[in-house]
Amino acid sequence: MFKKIGAVALSTGLVLSAVSVPVFADKPESPGKGKGNGYGGKKIDNIIYMIPDGFSGDYASNYRVYKGEDAVWDEHLKGMFTTNSANADVTDSAAAGTAMASGVKTNNGVIGLDPEGNELTTILDASEEAGKSSGLVATSTITHATPASFATNVESRNNQTEIARQYISGEVDVLLGGGQNMFLPETEGGNQEELNLIEEAQESGFTYTETRDELLDSTDIDVEEGEKLLGLFAEEALSPELHRDQTVEPSLAEMTEVSIEVLEQDKDGFFLMVEGSQIDWAGHANDAAWAMSDVAAFEDAVEAAIDFAEQDGKTLVIVAGDHDTGGMTTGSGAYAGLNADILNQVTATGDFIATQLNEDRSNTKEIVEEYTNLTITEDEVQSIQDASDAVLAINRVVSDHAGIGWTSTNHTGADIPVYAYGPQSEKFVGFYDNTDLPKIMANALRVNLKN
Ligand SMILES: [Zn+2]
Repeated sequence: MFKKIGAVALSTGLVLSAVSVPVFADKPESPGKGKGNGYGGKKIDNIIYMIPDGFSGDYASNYRVYKGEDAVWDEHLKGMFTTNSANADVTDSAAAGTAMASGVKTNNGVIGLDPEGNELTTILDASEEAGKSSGLVATSTITHATPASFATNVESRNNQTEIARQYISGEVDVLLGGGQNMFLPETEGGNQEELNLIEEAQESGFTYTETRDELLDSTDIDVEEGEKLLGLFAEEALSPELHRDQTVEPSLAEMTEVSIEVLEQDKDGFFLMVEGSQIDWAGHANDAAWAMSDVAAFEDAVEAAIDFAEQDGKTLVIVAGDHDTGGMTTGSGAYAGLNADILNQVTATGDFIATQLNEDRSNTKEIVEEYTNLTITEDEVQSIQDASDAVLAINRVVSDHAGIGWTSTNHTGADIPVYAYGPQSEKFVGFYDNTDLPKIMANALRVNLKN
């Protein structure tokens, strides 16, 4: 059933993102009846766990202004949760990912191990054990902390080459994202000492793709026959959505659609994790335009997941950030307006704009105005010219115009909203801890987390 829908959605992926119609606005929710409205104990076969890294309630508020209407997830809000790690009030993405995958808190920087170093099983492992297929999708390197937390066990998140090795010898059926260098040997410009993991993957049943077109042609992978799919579309991370070369890199929505189309062939169901990885990086840079445009790309992926879940009727879609990044505020002055919609006119990240400044930054006004479509004041020009960090200064000026404040260039301990759609989604109603998320999922999916 989804195949037809998938094919249509793929060929119109760009149109979908431009139109942005809320998917279920016209669908009445009728308690006790109908599929996927979150009521009753209806059986589920599949989970799609969507993680916008760094996304908190203020990202949701500003995004609504940016978009000009509700986001797809707004009407599916269910609860909020706490994010502290085992050894810190403010978590990093490794400890957060481990908690959200395994239900156990660990120390910052650690992946898939408890604070004593014991290996943890995850909701992905439990799904595999129940005979389901599984997939991981990210816009960072696929070996980055959040996806790695679902399928690997390493003491340090920085050990991305070990994470790549564990992936290729492991159970995950679909791996899509950036990070070719983590799989290639040094002789080919990669970071592996000697192994060529892309070749090894192909020998052990993976089809390898590295362009958007190749990916869109790979939906005939037969997971029931042990075939797998590895897609690495950049040497390092994928591009921010603002700079994505659409002829080479698939969108997050396209990667999500292909993953679903491949995984849903498993009669026992599937578990898929999709990360909007760079919302967090935008938050670290206080880059509001990068943040909002990557949230938009993530929303397209959520729409694809909910479209499938609506058709399938046995799929639970969960949207939950892993922590806040940047301490974003909605409003940045004394009752100043919320103007995040102006960020639609920004065509480049602060990182990129800064590279266009000349040595003495005398072209600041013309360059910043060219890429932001804003008119900036002499004081703002001066603040960028005088700054030790031009990127941050540019991003602060743009954020001021958008009515977006920032309190940090790191993570914060803010509570995070969770959204859920599908049968048993009412199980996510309430206030709880990040470790509760995979436990609720395991209960809904009737698999055993073990930890
Ligand atoms: Zn971060």
